[in-house]
Amino acid sequence: MPSQLKLTELISEEALSVKVREIGRALSDKYKGKEVVAICVLKGSFMFYADLIREINADVVSEFFGVSSYQNSSRSSGEVRLTLDLHSPIEDKHVLLVEDIVDTGLTMNYLQKTLAARKPKSLTTCALLLKPSCLKVECHVDHIGFEIPDEFVVGYGLDYQGYFRNIPYIAQVEGLI
Ligand code: 5GP
Repeated sequence: MPSQLKLTELISEEALSVKVREIGRALSDKYKGKEVVAICVLKGSFMFYADLIREINADVVSEFFGVSSYQNSSRSSGEVRLTLDLHSPIEDKHVLLVEDIVDTGLTMNYLQKTLAARKPKSLTTCALLLKPSCLKVECHVDHIGFEIPDEFVVGYGLDYQGYFRNIPYIAQVEGLI
């Protein structure tokens, strides 16, 4: 039961909003006068994505991509599955991929390969959180919000068994890892 788990705040609402504005400014410079297809990786990045695209001063087309790798556990299964594909082709478009968290790097690696194969004009990657000590595969991320320790985190879109996505800050769940 979620009410029996202890949450400890790791990144405050204020810190999240400062960081989102900072990344938004960098992306606004990058895409000035251009059109960008911003891809939200469901479900975990929806809140970060919604805040981030409001900070991007350019023509933004929203797309949603669904992947699943955890299947209700707190550890990656190592298998990435596409659950929802993009609505339109991205060939010859500037593409911005918005992820919630990079843990082993397997999901980001899969997403980069899958999108690059569709021949976008450019592909920029962005992740709110990175757990550097967990990386298992090499993956380059252009914009990273925060590096965090190897702890399972929830809030600001991230869940544990479907719960806690509505918490406005990032919290660590005690006793899961
Ligand atoms: P990776 O493939 O890098 O191991 O894992 C990436 C995906 O696993 C993320 O998109 C996210 O959905 C999930 N994930 C990894 N670490 C965490 C975590 O600490 N908390 C939550 N809620 N999800 C995580």
